[in-house]
Amino acid sequence: MSSKKENQEIDADTKVDIKFSQLGLDDRILKALGDLGYEKPTPIQAKAIPAAIKQRDVLGIAQTGTGKTGAFTLPTMHKLASGRARARMPRCLIVCPTRELAAQVAENVEQYGKYLKLEMALLIGGVSFAEQDKKLMRGVDILIATPGRLLDQFDRGKILMTGVQTLVVDEADRMLDMGFIPDIERIFQLTPFTRQVLFFSATMPNEIKRLVDQFLHQPLTIQIARKNMTAKTVKQYIVRMPSSDPKQKRTTLRWLIENNEVDNGIVFCNRKKDVDIVAKSLSVHKISSAPIHGDLPQSLRTETLEKFKNGDIKILVASDVAARGLDVPTVSHVFNYDVPNHSEDYVHRIGRTGRAGRKGETVMLVSRLDEKNYDEILELINAKSIEEIEIKGIENFPKDGGKYKRSNSHTAPRKEKRDNRKKAPKRIKENTTATTNNKKELNQNGKVESTNKSGETEGFGGNIPAFFKVL
Ligand code: AMP
Repeated sequence: MSSKKENQEIDADTKVDIKFSQLGLDDRILKALGDLGYEKPTPIQAKAIPAAIKQRDVLGIAQTGTGKTGAFTLPTMHKLASGRARARMPRCLIVCPTRELAAQVAENVEQYGKYLKLEMALLIGGVSFAEQDKKLMRGVDILIATPGRLLDQFDRGKILMTGVQTLVVDEADRMLDMGFIPDIERIFQLTPFTRQVLFFSATMPNEIKRLVDQFLHQPLTIQIARKNMTAKTVKQYIVRMPSSDPKQKRTTLRWLIENNEVDNGIVFCNRKKDVDIVAKSLSVHKISSAPIHGDLPQSLRTETLEKFKNGDIKILVASDVAARGLDVPTVSHVFNYDVPNHSEDYVHRIGRTGRAGRKGETVMLVSRLDEKNYDEILELINAKSIEEIEIKGIENFPKDGGKYKRSNSHTAPRKEKRDNRKKAPKRIKENTTATTNNKKELNQNGKVESTNKSGETEGFGGNIPAFFKVL
């Protein structure tokens, strides 16, 4: 059912000349937006809200940080403001790939809807179903759910989808990564043909295009240009690693945190095991940090996220899935401890900083074994290279020597050995930025030194062996 689309590509930081008050939103929503200090819509909101209010399907190709959550929640809440839900028949269904993202959307709905009388329920792991079921029984206007939970409760007869007027699918490409596409197709089929669809995805792989063509009716397509999103608000750097040795990487990460003005940051690892190890290592070295990944209990994940938002934790060490949709507007830095295996994840990861027009910095550790994935990232972000930070003496940073061997890893010991022979960073830019100009560096004895104004040498936690006692 392919349809004619008005394709609108907009830069993420395009100036928007209209105010929320001109979009025709309910006064109570405008009041809530005013309380949050939001006066103008973001570009995606400016385009999506009027179309969605007019009942059009919308396809938003945009990452987090663009204000996409408001682009679907605001018009939906506006339309739901009048009318009432019937028992077990939600009027709007918002499907999200992860619990964190679902919780985040719920938070937005609560904020924007604080002056409306809308009922909302959340069907995600870690949230008691008994309580949500009571709400469903009374009638829920907006149901926010992960696909598995939703279908599970549908199959038990706890939910009817025939009353759904608006179906929102958020971060569809992540659904694809997580194997949720059959579930999403089923949800499409279970909701009425006449429902409105608001569909969001950061990228458009073929499987997602197929879904869009099949289930959206003449959608307004709004594409937020990726290149500006990464180039203008996020300053990107890489560090060339002489090896893939985990300890050397952890030392480098710490060096970067200690030597940059990091207010708070997120460190991304490809594996859950490394999330734990890196978080522990940082904590041992007195850098306040905590891990967040899918194997940790939901209660702990929620608590960690709250602490991070409050500033009680400086560094959140995360896996891609757990970090998905985290809304922490003031993150100053994103560190890619690992080069992501999927280039799209790079964009998602660095989208955690430089949000809503704020400035952010991101640094990725790149070893020779990461070259293929790194090239794919460059291709995706349409860049020839990413500026390098030179860390003098990096080749002398200590190594684990295989202490944390990983199965199923691209850092196999034999390859690593080969890699270790090529020590020096490949290419160093003469004209580096403030990040590279700081004076801290490791000396040949393995001590980190920095020269202060009076020319004295400051220690950096003593010499390396003691420093690395635990990890
Ligand atoms: P999102 O892309 O929906 O995850 O939103 C990214 C961040 O921008 C969140 O912290 C939102 O609360 C914030 N935000 C959303 N809309 C606006 C707006 N119109 N003005 C200022 N900030 C906004």
